[in-house]
Amino acid sequence: MTAEIISVGTELLLGQVVDTNSVYLSQQLAKLGIDLYRRLTVGDNPQRIAGAVREALSRADIVLLTGGLGPTPDDVTALGIADAFGVRLVRHSEAEKWLSNLLLQRGITPSQTLLKQADLPEGANWLPNPVGTAPGIWMEKEGKIAIALPGVPAEVEAMFEREVIPRLQRKISGEVLKLRILRFSGIGESSLTDQLGELMQSGNPTLGTLVKPGEVWLRIAAKAQNEEKANALLDEMEAKVREKVGKWLIAVGDEPIEVLVGEKLKALKLTIATAESITGGLVCSTLINVPGSSQYVRGGIVAYCNAVKMHLLGIPWEVLEKEGEVSETCAKWMANQVRVRLKAHIGVSTTGYAGPTGGEPDKPIGTVFIAVSTPTETQVERFQLRGTRQQIRERAAYLALVQVLKALEQRRK
Ligand code: ATP
Repeated sequence: MTAEIISVGTELLLGQVVDTNSVYLSQQLAKLGIDLYRRLTVGDNPQRIAGAVREALSRADIVLLTGGLGPTPDDVTALGIADAFGVRLVRHSEAEKWLSNLLLQRGITPSQTLLKQADLPEGANWLPNPVGTAPGIWMEKEGKIAIALPGVPAEVEAMFEREVIPRLQRKISGEVLKLRILRFSGIGESSLTDQLGELMQSGNPTLGTLVKPGEVWLRIAAKAQNEEKANALLDEMEAKVREKVGKWLIAVGDEPIEVLVGEKLKALKLTIATAESITGGLVCSTLINVPGSSQYVRGGIVAYCNAVKMHLLGIPWEVLEKEGEVSETCAKWMANQVRVRLKAHIGVSTTGYAGPTGGEPDKPIGTVFIAVSTPTETQVERFQLRGTRQQIRERAAYLALVQVLKALEQRRK
């Protein structure tokens, strides 16, 4: 199968937005084994979009478009596709129902302007959008396929993964491909694959690893005639994997780490508080990104300077003077104290050197201590991170959430 990509948007031609969607889609097509021959950018003009689609489909089997599916008059991708296929735009009743329910849930009146997003080329299928309001389009005629996704990168990624990959897989092999991600921490990639031994060689499902900061992801991919059979293969393989390396498993799924932490805290009916130095509130802010996090986030203290560490967290001066603020002991005190002072079940802390200057001979830039405190114990881990100041701080925040997940999982086991 061959494909071409068309990114739609005058803002892309003006250089106001960088076309990251094409890069993402290119990577995904390569993973699926679909050959990508061309990438093109066109402005918000229905004739030029139609021309580009026609041309692309004269050469390739699939054309993937992003952008221009919204409700404003310059969102004309659906019209362009309809024109290229020689059909009209018609209101898709199922997409309209989905959209108007979604808008009502969000307290928005489903006006005709907004419902215009459900006007699709005649004969097209719609693709639900789990993030935004614009449905995607799957238009297929005489062996040629046009797939249109919205412009917002988060929507493109979510829809491609959930809606497009399974459909393309089915086209390619006549089979369903289902993926499951098992996430591990506290074990390196090579030890994990060693312990899994011959399972790594399995033909269906296949196993593959992906290294993430503080985590190793194991992807299980199962192919079968239908979803039910693919799920059964995944369950069977997951059980075998758990038997061998279940000790290090911290989560199942590819959701953002803060969502997984939130789900686990809610399930265990626990609350959390943060004491942050190097991350300056990023850990707490990331946790609060999740809707409903008020159920389990108590709050946080950004204890950047030592005076705040002493006065708001009650860390003894002797500890700071003797061990230093970037130390295992200080991290433990921070996590413990914030847990007690903010009346949470879990306390998490970060302290370290983000650079570009500073550090100590035995604690260079990138040294980070992360502690997680529960009423029964406080665990601390030291990390050596690389990157710019911003990258080190972001990685430290991510690792702090990994450490929390790990502590919660150990508590459960
Ligand atoms: P929505 O209705 O969800 O806004 P849309 O289909 O109308 O989606 P556009 O209005 O074309 O999408 O784009 C929305 C935003 O998405 C743009 O302002 C831009 O920031 C971003 N965007 C669009 N195309 C791309 C792209 N190819 N790469 C990266 N970002 C993009």
